This record gives sequence, structure tokens and C-alpha cells, in this order.
Amino acid sequence: MPTVVVPLRPGSDGDYAHKPPDNSIWAIIDPPTLYLERVGLQWMQDRDEAKPGIKYVLERLPVGYTLYQRPRANGTKDKYLFGHPNHKYFDSPNRFFPHFKHLMENGGNSIGCPCTICDPRSGVLPGKPPSISGHFSKSSSSASSLSSRRISVATAFKETIATQPVLDNGAVASAKVPLGRPKVMLAGMDATHVDEEGTPDIYRNLIDRLKRHGKLDESIKEPLSLDWRAEQEVIPDLLKKVRRDPQWLPRVGDILLYVRNVPDGFQIAQDPQTGKCLLYDPQSNNFGEKAVWEAGLVSQAPAESAEGEDQWYVGQTGLRMEPVPDPNDTDKSLSKRYTYVAVKHTRPFCLWKDYIGYVPRDKRHPTIQNAFTVSATMSLMGKHRFHGTWPTAYIHCHAIYIGSELIAVGDTVRLVPKAGDDNNVITDVLVVKTIRLRLSNLDDASSNDYDEGRPYNLEIWIYGSGYTVTASRSSKKWLSESNTAIPKSASGYGAWFPLHPPDKELAVPFSRIIGRLYEHDALESWVPDPELDSGRDGVLDARHFASKNDQRIVSNVGTTWFWADSRADALDLQAINGLDVRKYDVQRDPRDWRKSIKTMEAGAAFSDRKPAPHVRSLRRFLAPGTGMQDERSNNSSSSMTTGSKRRIIEVSDDDEEDIRRQTRIVTDVPYKRSKIQVVVD
Ligand SMILES: [Zn+2]
Repeated sequence: MPTVVVPLRPGSDGDYAHKPPDNSIWAIIDPPTLYLERVGLQWMQDRDEAKPGIKYVLERLPVGYTLYQRPRANGTKDKYLFGHPNHKYFDSPNRFFPHFKHLMENGGNSIGCPCTICDPRSGVLPGKPPSISGHFSKSSSSASSLSSRRISVATAFKETIATQPVLDNGAVASAKVPLGRPKVMLAGMDATHVDEEGTPDIYRNLIDRLKRHGKLDESIKEPLSLDWRAEQEVIPDLLKKVRRDPQWLPRVGDILLYVRNVPDGFQIAQDPQTGKCLLYDPQSNNFGEKAVWEAGLVSQAPAESAEGEDQWYVGQTGLRMEPVPDPNDTDKSLSKRYTYVAVKHTRPFCLWKDYIGYVPRDKRHPTIQNAFTVSATMSLMGKHRFHGTWPTAYIHCHAIYIGSELIAVGDTVRLVPKAGDDNNVITDVLVVKTIRLRLSNLDDASSNDYDEGRPYNLEIWIYGSGYTVTASRSSKKWLSESNTAIPKSASGYGAWFPLHPPDKELAVPFSRIIGRLYEHDALESWVPDPELDSGRDGVLDARHFASKNDQRIVSNVGTTWFWADSRADALDLQAINGLDVRKYDVQRDPRDWRKSIKTMEAGAAFSDRKPAPHVRSLRRFLAPGTGMQDERSNNSSSSMTTGSKRRIIEVSDDDEEDIRRQTRIVTDVPYKRSKIQVVVD
């Protein structure tokens, strides 16, 4: 049965502080499928929007609500929904539904709610939260609480180690090193430096620590940041998909070409006579009218099921596409006209020349122009590790959005030909191993990131294993067991040769990446002459257009890229998947969140706890500091971001050449091997 994910409306009265007694009998049920399915269906029926034969699933519970279960002595499990501000639990989806519906219809406000908790006259009072029941013998309950205590002590110990500085010889600094604050204090909990919303500025805190200790290596955790918590929900799933799925498959956040209304039974096909893309009826073997291509953002990927690739084509649910709005216009209503589209009715945006290249500019759908305009945007995702030796540091990230695509660790990406290459077509790919933000000149920079002083330098480099189809650029000496296999997704393009010895890595600036390498079979179904170079023109032309037309770039003379805090920021979106994001999110009150998060974390090491699920904001995180290679960029000429310095990247066309020449082979690999396995097809 096809599944449709039902997005929530913004607002909730949920309270994370309401939870069962802290003992090992209770377990969180995540995902809370029982509630998501029952409430999702009930809500769609209530709205008269439920269609037969379709399974409806809520995308999540309202913020602050968590489903817990507790086993009975006979083995059955009782499930209770915690989070009501009155600190009373719901014992069934049916009882929760009236409250849920009231929240959805009143922006999260429960005043006047008719449910049995808000208005006890309307039903049976569920009573106080259940405590440890007498079903359990004393010995079993004390044994389990003892073991849980043992676990949390062990984790707290590990946490302490992880946050201590690493000495030159790799050993962890002894406790004699004065840390200046309690050892378990993470940079993300340290309120010495806070951003404009009052969230601790973890990067400044880490830099200060690096300065004190000379050397530092720790994982990045920002338990007090809404954005970080939101991201924790997305990343594990993303990394799983990157390893498992083919690279051509659209990902959430990708911008695609798509055809909104393809009549039943019709296909999109190229008319062999004219080369134009038309709607084709295989039954009558007739070409009909022109296919109208729009540009949209994937806000929801296809429903799960990756058994056979064919299933992606026949999937009924398809992708949720939101038309790309104009970043230069405050009217974002366009992005609300979302639709569900079969994957087979979409194409990667980089192939636009093949599909709409022949259509005069003023005859194209307006979203196409909007997608061009955001083609020179970039945002990092999943910052997870900070390490460095003063005055240089690296922040490792799980993924990066560059223009229309998401690139993640493990992907094989295509590289812009290096300056001076003779035939100027793509011949090289990189299997991404790390995505790094490099902070340098920290010693010369002002220690206040919000003043007008000199900022530190920021650069984004992608590290990995390079391969080429040009045999003459490789050497037999570089061949080893580890680099003779074909890179992921790269079969069908000819023979591959390593670009460097196996113990070295290639590092390239992010702007050299054209996009993911699509599997040859997929590319063949989209363009008549599939090759490594397909779409390169389209990407470079779109970036050039953006650098001249995206007002956020144009208003900062000499810049060619816009570095955004998040994907939503890059595309200047008001909502993704119906959820309000960042500056448009009027209900976002970080102070409330921090309070409840602190309550939740009290008395436990962070890793004992799952991050608070389902934080409403989709904004990812705050990029630190300012644009790279530029001291003038800390003006506030644009109102796009407030408080911190601007994040426009200064890459002029000439610099672009320089950057290409900069591409370098890294000889010493100053970090541990990435844990993420690179899957080789
Ligand atoms: Zn209620």
C-alpha cells in the first residue's frame, strides 16, 4: 500500500520535562509508529482528505511529545505518551487525537482544548504518571537500576576523556592540566560565548580551548542548539542511504527538474525527429504536447524500499517537490505549491541544457530562473569533529550542499578539469573521505567574532581518493590492492586509474566539485550520449548566472558564492515540508528550549540520552566567523543574517583559476581514518 507522510502544522505545547521516572523499566519508542499511523489516518479522515488504499503516517509527533513503554510482569507492554504540559500522560492514540487536532488548528495552543486531560469533564481522568509498579520484585528492579548506573558512569568517563586535550604524542592530557572548568563541560554547553539566540557558540569556545592547550581533538556536540538537535535526527538516516543507495537517486534538499502533471499512461520521451522532450503515449505510439519542466526542491524522499531499483521507478508515493522560490523576492508562496512526483518524471538539474536548453528564456517556467539564481550557494551539514594544532583547526562535516546537490562522505564526485588541462572536459573523480572546514590564522584574528576586528580565515576542502580516466596522468607505481577497484558508481565510464599513491589523499576546494557521479545506466536513460562530462556546462553556466544575479552575492562586490548557515538559508526558504524554518519561525523561542533541554540533561552524561526528538526548526547550524580570504566582509550590508559576520565567499573568476591550481595532494594524513566505509561497487 502506498504511504503518504502527513506533515504537521507548526506549533506545539509539548513539554520534554514531562517523562516517566528515571529508571531502566521505561524505554522510549522511536519511531512511535502506533501514534504516527493512527493519528495520521484519523487526522486525514477528519479533514476529509483520506483516500482509500493509501496509508497515512504523521511525519512525527508534535515537539515535546515522546512515547514510552513499560513492560508488565506478564510480558505485555503498556505504552504512554508523555509531554502534556499538565504532566499527565495519554494512554492511547484515540485519547490523544482531540488534543493533537486542537494543537494543529490553533498554532500549538491548547487553550480551549476539549481533550480528556485539558478538560477532565469530557472523559475519564487518566491520573498521575505511572510509577514502578508492584509487578516487579525488589531484586529485579534494584539489579536493573544498578546496571543502568554502571553504564552511565562508564559513559560519563568516556565523555571526560573525549573532551580532554590530546598531547603531541597522542596521549590524553593528564588531570593535572588545568582545564579552567569542570571536565565534563562540553564546548556546546559552555555559555561563555553565545550566538544571537543565546545558544553557546561552540566554535569560539573550541578555538579558545585550542589556544589554551595548543592541540585539541574532540567530537562536536551542541546539546543546547536547536539546530544541532534537529540535525541529529536526519544524519544517521542520510549516511545509511548514502552507503546503500545509488548516487543518481534524488536526496532530500536536491534541486531537480520535474514535470508536474504527466497524464496517466503517458511517459516523458525524446522525439527522435526534433530532439525535444514530449509527453509520449506508448499505447498509440504518439507524441503529444511538450513537457513543462519546473525546478523544485526535494523536501521528502521516496518512501523506504530499496530492494530493486525498479521499485523507485514504479513507486506510487514519489518525491515531494517544492517549487524553488526566488531568493531575491520576499514572496515565498511559490514553495507552498508542492506536489508529489514519480522519480521517473524528474531529472538532475545539471542536465537542464538537454531538457530546456532550446526553450527561450522567457518561455521557461519561472522556477528555472530561480534555481539558476541559487546555484552558487553552499552550506555544510553535520559538523561532528574539531581538531587542530594552534593556530590552525579543522571541523569535519558529514555532508555539504553545493548548488543543486547534496554531497556526502562516501560519494564519488566529478571534478572540474584543472586549469591548463588540454581538452577541458571532466576526466577525474574523487571518492570523498572527509569534508573539512579549515580555520587558519587563528592567532592573528580578533577573539571576538562579532566585532569589526580581523576574522580568521575559513576555507572548505574536500579530501579523498582521486581517480582519472586518463591513463597518462597515473603511474603504475601508484597501483595497489586498495585502489585498483572501480570507484563507487563509476563503472561504465571506461578504465580508471589512481591519481596518487594509495597512502596519500587528494584535497580539492569545494568549488571544483561539479556534482555526484551518476551511475552510467541512469545517465543513459536521461541523455543520448552519456559521458563523464555530461552536465558540466550546465552547472558552470548556472553558477556564473548566480554570481551575477543572486543579490546576496551581487551586493558583496567581488564575491561569487553565498555560504549559508543551512540549506533553508541557502534557498531562502520560509518553510520546508510545511514546517516554518529559522527567521520565519515566529514560534521559535530558544530560551524555552534551552531550559527544557537542560532539565532533560540534568544529572546525566549527554551520550546517555537520545537527543530531544523532533525539534521544529530545520535550520542546521551556525557557520562560524566570516567569509574566507576577506577582511572587508564583516559589513552588515545584507539583512539576511544578523549578529555574526557575513559569510560570502570571495572567489573571483581569477581566484577560481588559482583555486583550481591549488588542488593538492596531501602527503601526511593528520587525522585518523574516517570511520565511514567507502563502498566500492
Ligand atoms: Zn488537550
